[in-house]
Amino acid sequence: MRIGNHSGRLTLFTEQGAVDVEKASGGRFGPDPQAVYQVWEDFLNWSKDARLSGASAFDPADLGSPAPAPTQLFAIGVNYREHASETDLATPDTFPPVFTKFRTSISGPVTTVTLPEGGHTDWEVELVAVIGQHARRVSAADAWSYVAGLTVGQDISERIRQIEGQGTAPQFSMGKSLPGFTPIGPWLVTVDEFENPDDLELGCAIDGDTVQHSRTSNLIFSVPQLIEGLSASLELLPGDVIFTGTPSGVGIGRKPQRWLQPGEELVSHISGIGELRQRFVAA
Ligand code: ZN
Repeated sequence: MRIGNHSGRLTLFTEQGAVDVEKASGGRFGPDPQAVYQVWEDFLNWSKDARLSGASAFDPADLGSPAPAPTQLFAIGVNYREHASETDLATPDTFPPVFTKFRTSISGPVTTVTLPEGGHTDWEVELVAVIGQHARRVSAADAWSYVAGLTVGQDISERIRQIEGQGTAPQFSMGKSLPGFTPIGPWLVTVDEFENPDDLELGCAIDGDTVQHSRTSNLIFSVPQLIEGLSASLELLPGDVIFTGTPSGVGIGRKPQRWLQPGEELVSHISGIGELRQRFVAA
């Protein structure tokens, strides 16, 4: 099942197009895309037998994030070996670094993003997991059953701000939370749709030039291991979002380094999910 956010309304996406959930369910489920995760089990049960007539065509530019207002958004650093080596960071052995992207930075999949003046703005394509039920002290073996589904994320990062404060504590969350720096979408694909949810191809390209390309089987800490580790420390809530880390090929790891420029378009994709499309403009 593909579920998401069309013009701010909870929507199912079928082969035929977009189906408004509130209308299709006769009001059993409301229009808020974030609220569905509170009743995820119920929603899955309803969707199995739902008669989804009245699908309509839609414009991808009208899609919002399938989780537009999570209570918590976790982002994971240094979770692919080749990305660790391109950024001269040690590979984490017990658990990778965790930070947040503040939720005002979340956007839909097709957007125009303003580049901060004097910044070094970089790209990071990532597999994103959305939590479907309360999770506390979950083992990796059980962890997939706590995931509502998977989507594509871009962890857009302003590197000057991000790295500021080395020696005290770097400003990862600030440098990664500018307006529009957290596109998510185009929709959530439930875990049952994937032959192997631990091995998905992902990548991104700038104006057609591929800059990142890998597979999620290269994650140092897999989605289940991340859920085990996070839920050992804290409680994961329905609708929470986890950015799982980026593979190699980011601008800061290149020689010479490369940053996003006004007029460039960044297209990010994950096989079996879909793509994000960001156009960058000057401030
Ligand atoms: Zn990242």
